[in-house]
Amino acid sequence: MNQRWRLLVLWMLPIGMALLLGWQVLGSNEIRTTNTSSTSVPPANAAVARMSYGRFLDYIEAGRVTSVDIYEGGRNAVVEAIDPELDNRVQRVRVDLPGLAPELINTLKEEGISFDIHPVRTAPPGLGILGNLLFPLLLIGGLILLARRSNSMPGGPGQAMQFGKTKARFAMEAETGVKFDDVAGVNEAKQDLQEVVTFLKQPERFTSVGAQIPKGVLLIGPPGTGKTLLAKAIAGEAGVPFFSLSGSEFVEMFVGVGASRVRDLFKRAKENSPCLIFIDEIDAVGRQRGAGIGGGNDEREQTLNQLLTEMDGFEGNSGIIIIAATNRPDVLDSALMRPGRFDRQVSVDPPDIKGRLSILEVHARNKKISNDLSLENIARRTPGFTGADLANLLNEAAILTARRRKDSISITEIDDAVDRIIAGMEGQPLTDGRSKRLIAYHEVGHALIGTLVKDHDPVQKVTLIPRGQAKGLTWFSPDDEQMLVSRAQLKARIMGALGGRAAEDVVFGRAEVTTGAGGDIQQVAAMAKQMVTRFGMSDLGPLSLEGDSQEVFLGRDLMTRSDISDAIARQIDEQIREMVKICYKETLSIVRKQREALDELVEILVEKETIDGEEFREVLSNYTVIPNKERTIPILN
Ligand code: ADP
Ligand code: MG
Ligand code: ZN
Repeated sequence: MNQRWRLLVLWMLPIGMALLLGWQVLGSNEIRTTNTSSTSVPPANAAVARMSYGRFLDYIEAGRVTSVDIYEGGRNAVVEAIDPELDNRVQRVRVDLPGLAPELINTLKEEGISFDIHPVRTAPPGLGILGNLLFPLLLIGGLILLARRSNSMPGGPGQAMQFGKTKARFAMEAETGVKFDDVAGVNEAKQDLQEVVTFLKQPERFTSVGAQIPKGVLLIGPPGTGKTLLAKAIAGEAGVPFFSLSGSEFVEMFVGVGASRVRDLFKRAKENSPCLIFIDEIDAVGRQRGAGIGGGNDEREQTLNQLLTEMDGFEGNSGIIIIAATNRPDVLDSALMRPGRFDRQVSVDPPDIKGRLSILEVHARNKKISNDLSLENIARRTPGFTGADLANLLNEAAILTARRRKDSISITEIDDAVDRIIAGMEGQPLTDGRSKRLIAYHEVGHALIGTLVKDHDPVQKVTLIPRGQAKGLTWFSPDDEQMLVSRAQLKARIMGALGGRAAEDVVFGRAEVTTGAGGDIQQVAAMAKQMVTRFGMSDLGPLSLEGDSQEVFLGRDLMTRSDISDAIARQIDEQIREMVKICYKETLSIVRKQREALDELVEILVEKETIDGEEFREVLSNYTVIPNKERTIPILN
């Protein structure tokens, strides 16, 4: 918090200067302009007489006012009025106004009186000095503000207690308007949850035979798969209010706030039953208790305890169902999953190709799609995309379509949107030169290895147009729905990742290799390590040697980490090194053998900036035999 205030002051410094400069510039402008034009300054001395506001209104009514010039945001005006007693002589008077009242403006309009509102003057005369003073004033003001804030920061006396009450941090929607039809590609989860709708809609069906209605359902799945959407759909289908709150909002700085929020939430829910409570990111509060590292867990534990107490405290048949969502069920406290709490678990998985197609159909409902664009093709092109990714994809494509002033979304926009979602915004291509050439060799290196190693995913395209952080990119099309990855495939991926560096090495020499391969090398290291420690794919045999070194603060014991002895740790390192070394040697030898092909492909790439997979393979096939990577294309019905 302190940090923020410090930043604020730093930020005020330039603002203060800008204001100061602005004022001085304006000030000097004014000196220059006042002689020639007086429109922005009320001619204080020009209008001799003053008139009361009431009299001014009378004058308007009597039709004596001919024009009104309003100054200083409506604080005063110069009025021209005629005096019928004095041969309709024009009088100029000054009137103090109570402000820029809309009624006044309306009256002026109705009476057809010409009026003008002059902009507020930026610098009243004499601001030259004031402007100079203002700068330190601003700074000092900032400092005072800072001092005051830090005194009255929550946590100061008497503040924290009100927090839980005053800020109702949960949202209530009386009617979510979401139906099961809006959620696609997660049919199993939908089936499981259908019953929950019945619990909410017709509890008698269950209670009449003595069944206890479950209280809690845990939705488990990665982000973007539609957990929130499903929870809303349940409330929507059952026609009950939807209370929602995110686990991270429970966890506050002050002990007791989270717990009081939980109490509030349940109180409100009970008043509105039947209803559905949705707790997002429950792992933020529901982590295993007990491994308090660095303190600060008291609050979380209290909140969790309160949640458990509340769940136990209401009858199963009170018409409230709690749905919680997480993508880390492994870190949850086991007390949460006990019968009577979140004893039902429903997993919400990323969609397969059919699921993706149906999600695309849902989101294409309100979009104009060109006739020759098949959603099926998009579904096929997007393995690994979640529902949220697909929704985003169609939206991005629609934005691109509008930007290009087309009538409907075509495959070009979809392609561009996919690239953008995966790799970031497109940048400007490099101008021709040594670095462009080096990047070209690096990328063609990846693509060459990817094409020639049999178990590698085929190349989709190679490009020198930068995107996001990357200066050049090689795209591969991964096999759809690949659940299992073989050792050969992992090895092929390592070699593919090393292809870039190998090409730099062969063409430019060891002394000239660049930092551009940094990302590749990190990937290589991670893959090799997993092969050894996790998948048992090294000479150490099928042992899981993974230290449970995940974030210790997640609430697991610290102890599991040191299961591995120093001797084994050394062996692991050796195995990893050996594996990468062998892969790099093979990669280098392929690159050396295909040097001519490499050169030609680089020429083409530098010239065209993008080569697609087909063309790449065609050129390469003039030099060597390309292994066949035919795949069975999943059939959709
Ligand atoms: P989660 O809660 O699992 O992170 P959300 O439910 O918040 O994901 O999903 C975000 C958005 O993505 C939704 O509002 C919806 O537009 C889209 N979306 C996600 N999954 C699906 C799905 N299965 N069917 C249709 N749309 C989906
Ligand atoms: Mg969500
Ligand atoms: Zn690379």
